[in-house]
Amino acid sequence: MSDGQAREVRTTCPYCGVGCGVLAGVAADGSVSVRGDPEHPANAGKLCSKGAALAETLGLGQRVLTPEIGRKPATWEDALDKVANTFSRTIAEHGPDAVAFYVSGQLLTEDYYVANKLMKGFIGSANIDTNSRLCMASSVAGHKRAFGEDLVPGVYEDFDLADLIVLVGSNTAWCHPILHQRMRAARDRSGTRIVVIDPRGTATSAECDLHLALRPGTDVQLFNGLLAHLVRTGAVDADYVATHTTGFDAAAALAAADAPALERVAEICDLATGDIERFYAWFATTQRTVTVYSQGVNQSAHGTDKVNAILNCHLATGRVGKPGASPFSVTGQPNAMGGREVGGLANQLAAHIGFDDPAAADSVARFWRAPSMVRSAGLKAVDMFEAISDGQVKALLVMGTNPAVSMPNARRVREALRRCDFVAVADVVRTDTTAFADVLLPAAAWGEKDGTVTNSERRISRQRRFLPLPGESRPDWWIITEVARRMGFADAFAYASPAEIFREHAALSAFENDGGRLFDLGALKETGDAGYDDLQPFHWPAREGKSGGERVLGDGRFPTAGGKARFVAVRQEGPALPAEPTRPLVLNTGRLRDQWHTMTRTGLVPLLMANAPEPVVDLAPADAAAIGVTDDALVSVDSRFGNVRAKVRVTRTQRPGEAFLPMHWSGRFAARAAAGLVSNPATDPHSGQPELKHVPVRIVPETIG
Ligand code: SF4
Repeated sequence: MSDGQAREVRTTCPYCGVGCGVLAGVAADGSVSVRGDPEHPANAGKLCSKGAALAETLGLGQRVLTPEIGRKPATWEDALDKVANTFSRTIAEHGPDAVAFYVSGQLLTEDYYVANKLMKGFIGSANIDTNSRLCMASSVAGHKRAFGEDLVPGVYEDFDLADLIVLVGSNTAWCHPILHQRMRAARDRSGTRIVVIDPRGTATSAECDLHLALRPGTDVQLFNGLLAHLVRTGAVDADYVATHTTGFDAAAALAAADAPALERVAEICDLATGDIERFYAWFATTQRTVTVYSQGVNQSAHGTDKVNAILNCHLATGRVGKPGASPFSVTGQPNAMGGREVGGLANQLAAHIGFDDPAAADSVARFWRAPSMVRSAGLKAVDMFEAISDGQVKALLVMGTNPAVSMPNARRVREALRRCDFVAVADVVRTDTTAFADVLLPAAAWGEKDGTVTNSERRISRQRRFLPLPGESRPDWWIITEVARRMGFADAFAYASPAEIFREHAALSAFENDGGRLFDLGALKETGDAGYDDLQPFHWPAREGKSGGERVLGDGRFPTAGGKARFVAVRQEGPALPAEPTRPLVLNTGRLRDQWHTMTRTGLVPLLMANAPEPVVDLAPADAAAIGVTDDALVSVDSRFGNVRAKVRVTRTQRPGEAFLPMHWSGRFAARAAAGLVSNPATDPHSGQPELKHVPVRIVPETIG
């Protein structure tokens, strides 16, 4: 600790799914500094630009500090009564499916747990979904199809051990910077090869051994071609396939029919055959291969098929959950994984139990002593806002997210929020969404509340409080339990602390389980408050009698009915909306290095704003010339859903025919550049994840004014 610091608190970065450990130093005068936690296994003391600037986001200038009803200050009693009474009345008049919660991968696991329990066990609806739906739902669905459960077999140590790392739709240098540093270190140390599969040239592709800038959306074709190549060249692990999997023949046959020859793959993917050959040869001959994938795969109307096309290749070579050899979906948000564990998605219950297992669902009902246990899936994010728009959902609680900007077809989402009979929003700052709130609830921010988060490698870490609650703000778990209490469920929600909630969550994961489920925190179900305070970062499962930290699926046993993994036969499909003569360009969206979500935190830091201070759309030189614009020209980007305005950057990193717009811009910074205004709400049929990376647009010069 440096001079003048009174104490240093060990906590976790609230931004991305890497889940870096942070030491927050609080000086005697109350000022805060942060540094990377050298003892946290995710980052070993390093922080990226966003994490390093966390202390500069803690000011109270933009904070919501008192409850409001109808935009007027109110007491917590009145605000909570209003929310609970409106929800109870709506349920009494229209049934439980007339209400919904839309929550966030920014919430802590304990917040998520109580919100999920209230909606699914006590209200009797599964209408609770999360902005993580926009981030990794296709990976969840792909894992369930292949492995039987939503299990991520990779761990960060695999990057140190791999000889080949394949990054698919994943600009890790900007979006998971600390992981990328680890991959680069492996490359420098042991010559690990890195292949980047991404239509765009990025900071990640700039440093790789092979960049496959494929035509957007053709990932299934590329990986079907790889599966066919593995079969043709005898690279399939026949023993593994026979012993641990089902469905190989059908998947291999469809892959061979879909991708009969390299030339066909090259044509569909718009790649050089030599590059494809090189990638296929490296994959076929490198046992220690890790394939990392994220939003570029997931955010698609065929995202789940893309995930399964990748998983098929790893199953065919027996490379699942083994040291340095695994598929590895990395999450965008700090607690997307924790939300999955407690059922924060409309199609999951809790503890990785789905609605497709009635006996396990009965077990959850018994554990909760739930009076109104729901038995079927609820509305996923895009459908939820459609149901609000149609008047089927009449009361909504939004927690820690900004759907008025981040949802696709955001104009329609705003209209839905405007029309909704009742909208309550719990958040830290005013956002585009809080403008629609009938009741606004001041939530505690990072540093002001306690709980746990789970990162991309299944490692659970504590977020610890190091600041007092400002104004009248309260933690999200407290807000939910107070609403539940007022709705008549006081006994089931009589929690005094997040530690109590965590113990219940751990006990549920082991309840009537006998070690049968891989998500198991049974060893922690009796953790006392002091033990919870001291909890060190650990991998699940954490079973009773075991120390935890096991790899999962590496032994070839899968949580399916027959204990075997499933190949899924998939075929290349086109995008939901192809380019057309009037909208000839395809718009892709994604993150910037220094920004997070809708900029509500990172936008407060001048240093983070300096690198990209205004909305810019990237165009290839030929497209810019065809439109008649050069660098810094102002353009209108028009899709069939709406339009945004941005300045042009002409860059050879962009494929001709494609454009790129960052997803972050929101009301306070550049309302007219919110990517959600032009994004396509078409969703993947299995995951419900929207196609945020592919919408046809027309780009035309616009005059300033
Ligand atoms: Fe935070 Fe992610 Fe950066 Fe780590 S890599 S410091 S978790 S934003």
